[in-house]
Amino acid sequence: MNSNVGTIASASPLVADAAPMIDPFGRAVTYLRVSVTDRCDFRCTYCMAENMTFLPKKDLLTLEELNRLCCAFIAKGVRKIRLTGGEPLVRKNIMFLVRELGKRIGSGLEELTLTTNGSQLARHAEELYDCGVRRINVSLDTLDPDKFRKITRWGDFAKVMEGIDAAQKAGLKIKLNAVALKDFNQAEIPDMLRFAHGRGMDLTVIETMPMGEIDEDRTDQYLPLSELRADLERQFTLTDIGYKTGGPARYVEVTETAGRLGFITPMTHNFCESCNRVRLTCTGTLYMCLGQNDAADLRSALRATDDDGLVCAAIDEAITRKPKGHDFIIDRTHNRPAVSRHMSVTGG
Ligand code: SAM
Ligand code: SF4
Repeated sequence: MNSNVGTIASASPLVADAAPMIDPFGRAVTYLRVSVTDRCDFRCTYCMAENMTFLPKKDLLTLEELNRLCCAFIAKGVRKIRLTGGEPLVRKNIMFLVRELGKRIGSGLEELTLTTNGSQLARHAEELYDCGVRRINVSLDTLDPDKFRKITRWGDFAKVMEGIDAAQKAGLKIKLNAVALKDFNQAEIPDMLRFAHGRGMDLTVIETMPMGEIDEDRTDQYLPLSELRADLERQFTLTDIGYKTGGPARYVEVTETAGRLGFITPMTHNFCESCNRVRLTCTGTLYMCLGQNDAADLRSALRATDDDGLVCAAIDEAITRKPKGHDFIIDRTHNRPAVSRHMSVTGG
């Protein structure tokens, strides 16, 4: 095992004194999303093609290396880490990383969380809680098992429900994430609201983003959330509230179901002005923006030296390149995605 695990902040005085990350627009970077694998046991139609080519395993950082990088980010002011993917819980031995990062909660890190499709949640829920995870996001686009199979291609609805049950039993707070898809789940969102709020979960709806080649036409799937909100307001009383979770969602309180509903609207309402996030992939590439192609190679810096000060210097250089915002547009003429990499590479 790598002797650096868990010792980074104390091993290198340079890192212990690392300066916080402030981007050229004065935004402090305090939130790191880590895509621990680009692989997945589902093939959601808006996310992946059925026949995906994944990164060669030899290009992946080890979990020890990922931990080392995450610790460098914590030393540089990251307070919240979200593990994502691909499906984070299909990465072999992922609980090792969860446990190591969990040890940093309360000493630098304030929150460790993950976004999952729920397929493996039943067997990991208790251990996640034991490692210090308290809140997770579970992606669920429909409550209909047949439609669930259709949208995920390979997913099993019953297993995800088992996962949700187990997570709640273990004490994890869940937020459901649903991608809003025209003609697919538009009419179902009221039922999903009742289901989520009835079980004490928040629900967030997300606009589809044009990332990566898929087998379908994205313009057919795209549903502006302004339209969905207008639909919902015919049945429910929605009141804007200032609630924040560190992510880009804007929340409303739903009077009738007494719960929170979040809107993530990258397409209709740019959420970039308050962006506090950067994204690390499983190969050690740092994307300073989900919707731009510019990236920094942290793997070379990591493997070139045991000096975490140099890794921090590479991070600092990357932060100077954080752009003001994304340029997501759907290229309707050529039906080309705005960003060629899939969401599963950078993490949602
Ligand atoms: N596999 C895990 C899951 O599904 O929760 C984590 C990774 S997944 C890429 C993270 C989130 O991104 C999910 O909520 C998924 O629905 C969403 N997502 C994937 N592709 C998307 C796209 N093109 N536009 C908007 N959201 C997308
Ligand atoms: Fe897998 Fe998540 Fe993408 Fe669905 S959205 S294919 S579960 S990575």
